[in-house]
Amino acid sequence: MNKKELINSGKVKSVFTTDNDDEVIIEFRDDMTAGDGVRKEVMSNKGSYNAVISSKIFKVLEENGVQTQFLDLPKPNMMLAKKLEMIPIEVIIRNIATGSLVRNYPIEDGTKLNPPIVQMDYKNDEYHDPMLNDSIIKALGIATQEEIDILTQKALEINEVLSGLFADVGIILVDFKVEFGKDKDGNIVLGDEISPDGCRLWDSETLEMLDKELFRKGKDSEVMDAYIEVYNRIVPDDEKVI
Ligand code: 5GP
Repeated sequence: MNKKELINSGKVKSVFTTDNDDEVIIEFRDDMTAGDGVRKEVMSNKGSYNAVISSKIFKVLEENGVQTQFLDLPKPNMMLAKKLEMIPIEVIIRNIATGSLVRNYPIEDGTKLNPPIVQMDYKNDEYHDPMLNDSIIKALGIATQEEIDILTQKALEINEVLSGLFADVGIILVDFKVEFGKDKDGNIVLGDEISPDGCRLWDSETLEMLDKELFRKGKDSEVMDAYIEVYNRIVPDDEKVI
């Protein structure tokens, strides 16, 4: 499968057309950014680790009945994916209070959230990803109420599957962000990626961070070891390609 034209270049991934109009190649680059892209570094092999972790997670979700964009992983840093029209909403699920939640609201860091919080942010760097609610989403014309309900339900299903997947390898899924798009038939399908870039992952025993929060806190030298640890725990030996 050859990549043809670049159709979108984001902060850490580039999307290319292929010979098939219904499919795209998503290239995971080695870039790492924080603060709406203000801080940027290159981390060797980060793109490959994230693409393989994300592909593994998407495959597990498919096995559990969650439709995803994933089709194949022709190279460690390249995902062949169903072409989607992306919805500019970051759906965030929180199982434990931390990050922006405890900065913005009087909830103690580390509080267990049961049921989990479902939050939707507007994916827009210029406006710094502000939090949305149903009325704002509808006023902006981003999604209908029916679609909002589908996004909520799918994100909660994903949380159920992934909390179990990570718990089995000694990792707590603290919170994460997912993005969805519509396929050519109008179905809402999970897209983008699920990797340590968009999840908070804590070791169950030591509570040490195994995700991008290390980079956000300036601990750049620890980032790749954490990502490789997640890769080693999530990807079985016979599926390891790096
Ligand atoms: P918070 O709102 O606490 O900063 O983030 C909540 C969760 O969503 C974290 O797991 C974080 O990684 C993820 N998240 C929120 N916004 C973004 C974003 O713009 N990019 C990425 N990669 N992850 C995000």
